[in-house]
Amino acid sequence: MTDADPRRAIPRTDALLLLPPVRAARERLGEHVVRGVVRGAQDRARRGDLAPELVESTVLEVLSELPPTSLRPVLNATGVVVHTNLGRAPLSAGAVDALVAASGYVDVELDLVSGARSQRGVAARAALLAACPSAEDALVVNNGAAALVLATTTLGAGREVVVSRGELIEIGAGFRLPDLIASTGARLREVGTTNRTHLRDYAEAIGPQTGCILKVHPSNFAVHGFTASVGLAELRPLATRHDVALIADLGSGLLAPDPLLPDEPDAATMLAAGADLVTASGDKLLGGPQAGIVLGRTETVAALARHPLARAVRADKLTLAALEATVSGAAAPVTQALHANPDQLHSRAQQLAGAVGATVVAHDGRVGGGGAPGVPLPGWAVRLPEAAAAALRTGDPAVLPRVHDGACLIDLRCVPAADDARLLAAVRAALDRIG
Ligand SMILES: *Cc1c(COP(=O)(O)O)cnc(C)c1O
Repeated sequence: MTDADPRRAIPRTDALLLLPPVRAARERLGEHVVRGVVRGAQDRARRGDLAPELVESTVLEVLSELPPTSLRPVLNATGVVVHTNLGRAPLSAGAVDALVAASGYVDVELDLVSGARSQRGVAARAALLAACPSAEDALVVNNGAAALVLATTTLGAGREVVVSRGELIEIGAGFRLPDLIASTGARLREVGTTNRTHLRDYAEAIGPQTGCILKVHPSNFAVHGFTASVGLAELRPLATRHDVALIADLGSGLLAPDPLLPDEPDAATMLAAGADLVTASGDKLLGGPQAGIVLGRTETVAALARHPLARAVRADKLTLAALEATVSGAAAPVTQALHANPDQLHSRAQQLAGAVGATVVAHDGRVGGGGAPGVPLPGWAVRLPEAAAAALRTGDPAVLPRVHDGACLIDLRCVPAADDARLLAAVRAALDRIG
C-alpha cells in the first residue's frame, strides 16, 4: 500500500465508533452488531466496492435502518388467518401496548398496596374468567401443548389416560398427541376405532387404573362417512361415577361459540357440558400471544397449578400482559380477519387490481393453524403472474401471497386496511422487478 493508495483514506474503526450516532447505535443494537456493520463497510471499501469517503455515511445509513431483530414483518396476503409460519395470531394494538408496558419492571407478582408478594398473573386470570364465566378458575402456561402436558401429568401420570382412537392426532411440527402423553409417564388407553367410538368403549376401559378421560378436538382434519364419537355431556356421568377427571383439549381457543365456525368447540360450551378442565392455545382463534389456557373447576385447576411441572411451563410477564389485553380488549385482528366483510374485501381488492392493471377473482380464505379444517372463508383475491410471488416475498415490505394454479393471489382478508398503500407499493415494485 502506497501513500497514494485510496485505501489509506478508509476511516479507522475507533474514529467511526466515536461518532455520536454510532455511539447511540451501540446502546441500541450492541457493540457486536455495530462493529460488524463498521467492518462490513470498511471491507467493501478495501475491495473497491465503496468509495472510502462514503464509508462513514454508509455506516450511519445502515445503522439507522438496522432493526433490533432480524425477524422481518410480513404482510399476510394468503387469506389464511392463523398462519403458523407467520407466527400465528398478530397482536391487537392494545396487546402491543401491554407488551411495551410490561417490558420493564412490573407488579406481575407483587401487591403494591401491601408490598407483599401476590399471585402471579391475577389480571390475566381475571380477564379470562370475565370472558368465560362458566370457568371457576384459570391458569396460563407457555402454550397449548404445555397445558395438555401439565393436565395429563397432574391427572394421569402413573395411571391411564383414556382417549378415543379417532382423536390420536398429529397437529404439525412434530406434535403427536400420543407421544406427548406418553412422555408424561401416563399410559395411553386407546378406545374405539379411527372412525367410530361409542360410550360403551369408554365404559369398558375405565377402572381403578384410570387417571382421566381426555377428549381431543381433531382440529386439523375432518372425518366423513360412517363415523361416531361420544360427546362430553355423555361422558360426564361416566366420569362422575368413576370419580375421574374429564378433560377437553380444544386447541383453537374460542372462549364462546362463534356462529361462523359451528363445528369449532369453545370453552364455555365444553365446561357447561361437564368438562372439569379445558385446554387451548392463546395464539389461534383467541388471537393473542403464544400461551396455553387452562380453564375449569377450582380444585382441578388448583391441582395443576400446584404440580412442580407448572413452574417449568409458566407464562412470562409479556405473555400475561398481552393475553389480558387481548381477552379484555376490542376484537383481535384474528377475529376481525375471520369476520371481514366480503363487500369491503371486494372493493379493496378492486382498488388494488385497478391500480396495477390486474383482475379480481373469487378466493376462499382459511382459518388455518389447524383450526376449522375445510371451512372456506369466501372472499376475493387480486390475480398476478406467478413470478410476482418471489419478488413480493423478498420485497420491502415483505408480502406473502398464495401461489395457486399458476397464479400469485393476493387476498386482503388478513392485511389491515391501513396497510393497503404499503401493499400497493410492494405489488408495484414486485411487478417492476419481474418486468
Ligand atoms: C394447536 C393444538 C394444540 C397445541 O397447542 P400449541 O399452542 O401449538 O402448543 C393441542 N391440541 C390441539 C387440539 C390443537 O389444535
